[in-house]
Amino acid sequence: MIRVGVNGYGTIGKRVADAVEAQPDMTVAGVAKTQPNFEAHTAVELGYPMYTAIPERAPLFAEAGIETAGVVDELVADVDVMVDATPSGIGADNKSLYASYHTPAIFQGGEDAGVAETSFNARSNYDKARGADSVRVVSCNTTGLSRVVAPLEEEYGVEKVRATLVRRGGDPSQNTRGPINDILPNPIEIPSHHGPDVQTIFPGLSIDTMGLKVPATLMHVHALNVTLETDVTAAHVRQLLDEQSRIYVIPEGIGLDGAGKLKDFALDAGRPRGDLWENCLWGESIATEGRDLYLFQAIHQESDVVPENVDAIRAVTETAGATESIRRTNETLGVGLSGDPSGFGADQVEASRADD
Ligand code: NAD
Repeated sequence: MIRVGVNGYGTIGKRVADAVEAQPDMTVAGVAKTQPNFEAHTAVELGYPMYTAIPERAPLFAEAGIETAGVVDELVADVDVMVDATPSGIGADNKSLYASYHTPAIFQGGEDAGVAETSFNARSNYDKARGADSVRVVSCNTTGLSRVVAPLEEEYGVEKVRATLVRRGGDPSQNTRGPINDILPNPIEIPSHHGPDVQTIFPGLSIDTMGLKVPATLMHVHALNVTLETDVTAAHVRQLLDEQSRIYVIPEGIGLDGAGKLKDFALDAGRPRGDLWENCLWGESIATEGRDLYLFQAIHQESDVVPENVDAIRAVTETAGATESIRRTNETLGVGLSGDPSGFGADQVEASRADD
């Protein structure tokens, strides 16, 4: 049983903790938090031992009626792997803590690539993380792009990727983020930093990215143009992408025409927190012209990296190979929508058509 600690129990940390706890070969040995807020109370209710990330704040937890198991150092000393899901930049500050106990650490995409021995996407470069002391699971956008690039590269060869990323302004709980009523080129500089981040997974890949931010919290949407090394048909690409367990090719006529309905679908289908771990890629959008491929996909920023963190844990502990780990993670969490998803019976499909 792999004992996992989670430092930083926010949007990503709480999801990773639940995903780890769901695995037959892993357990959450504890989570570390800076403050006894509502998420701390939920963690305790879920049975996760609570550690204080800032020792001087321990009395605040006691005042809030939260029993603590110790301070974060004790958690780091006790576990096989730490998952650092603290805000961007804090992971780098925590690196020496993990190293001082020789505890392998998994960082998140908000950290610079240099924080870890390797950047990670399970479908693309699992083996590079095997036995590593530190791994960075790339950001939500980079994860979404990598999952598409990997099969295209293997099957056809990729000459050039051009991607425009329409980015959500903030997560639903980030009430300090914006824009509220604007459309921002963000970052204004072209190409954006996302391309170089994808190159941490695919060194040498030719990729240019442009970013915008919009007043939405639900998902990101990517518009992709990939020039391949061989002529392709849309049908062939679609079949290839359909075979990828973490890509959901949205079927035509089902009424899933945007991020709002995708999120509704996830909630209707009983997904925890309405999470969509898969890239949600519109089948109808897959178009080709010679070697040029075009498509749209939506990425649920809060959850697509969650199965990747689980696989990264198996990679650093060398407890499973890529195929086995991905299979186990998918099966345990229920990752892998395909065709007409459960939750949408024929009647609902007809009803959604009638609404149009
Ligand atoms: P978050 O703000 O939702 O959660 C971070 C948590 O860490 C909060 O609970 C915060 O109180 C806590 N924290 C702050 N300082 C701490 C410290 N010193 N020690 C321990 N805990 C501390 O942030 P998030 O969105 O979960 O992001 C975490 C990481 O994941 C970042 O690197 C981010 O870039 C990356 N990421 C975020 C998203 C997303 O859409 N939210 C997607 C992919 C990757």
